Amino acid sequence: MSFKDIVGQERAIKILKKSLKENKISSSYIFVGSEGTGKKLTAIEFTKTVNCLNPNKSSEACGDCQSCNEISKQCSPDLKIIEPIKSSIKIEQIREMRKEIGLKPFKNKKKMYIIDKAEKMTLEASNCLLKTIEEPPYYAIIILICSRIDPILPTIVSRCQIVNFGLISSYKTKEFLLNKNNNLEKEKAEIISKLAQGSIGNALKLLSDKEYFIRREEVLNYLSAISPGKYGDDIFAKVEKMVSEVDRIEGILEMIRLWYRDILIIKNTGNQKYIANCDKLEILGKKSQIYSQKMLIDILDYLEQVEEYLMKNVNKRLILERLYIKMVGVEYCLK
Ligand SMILES: [Zn+2]
Repeated sequence: MSFKDIVGQERAIKILKKSLKENKISSSYIFVGSEGTGKKLTAIEFTKTVNCLNPNKSSEACGDCQSCNEISKQCSPDLKIIEPIKSSIKIEQIREMRKEIGLKPFKNKKKMYIIDKAEKMTLEASNCLLKTIEEPPYYAIIILICSRIDPILPTIVSRCQIVNFGLISSYKTKEFLLNKNNNLEKEKAEIISKLAQGSIGNALKLLSDKEYFIRREEVLNYLSAISPGKYGDDIFAKVEKMVSEVDRIEGILEMIRLWYRDILIIKNTGNQKYIANCDKLEILGKKSQIYSQKMLIDILDYLEQVEEYLMKNVNKRLILERLYIKMVGVEYCLK
């Protein structure tokens, strides 16, 4: 593994390499970007590069020395990765970090702390971290990794160097998948790379989930059969079926979101380039003619709210009933 193996993040890596070359490394960074875009891999590679015993002329880690090896295996005494326990990063975790950070590195130049999913820090944990970030020891580097920056305390953000990680193009994702898997068919790689929505992590998840495509086919068949105004008498039987899938609800909602997002894109632009369900163009085209723009936006808005409802544990049956009512456009038919 080296910086070269990280796909589609040339800009972020250039910024980090420049700071290494010019010896202007910050004491704290925020790596921000969608899940699965290579933030953690880059943080570990950066840790290697900072501490490598034989870096090459272009400021890259050798990958072979003892330090590189230990950091790659994440068993270096000078690398600590902090992650949420259950759903949050708690003050005890940051207190422990504060205690440890006072001790000099065990054998490396720099002591590195990577706080993964930093947006999950509780307010107490954030305030505790702020104290360290305000007065960091000269030998420590803290990297916060997050998918959104707005939940991070502004007082923390203002003291960190921000490095943005952009979405990865479907072309690069496809190349990556094909290079990694000799047996993968091109067509399947194409579909996965579009469904992954700019995230290599997502693409790898879809590729390794043996049942994903079976489930997707079921859900898309179900969505294909739904048309505005045709809701018949069996609404509740259909909702019942969706409720029975409640355990996998997040994945299914994402399929539904992409479906309606695709229809809206075709309706508004006619452009197929950004369609995620690129193997379903014909049916998406038909649907784009029967759904009004307002209905599509309404469904997509509701799906966005659903994420919040699920986090707040609102009754799933109620959420899905309302979603179904929106998908068949009952509200519009009754007006
Ligand atoms: Zn090395």
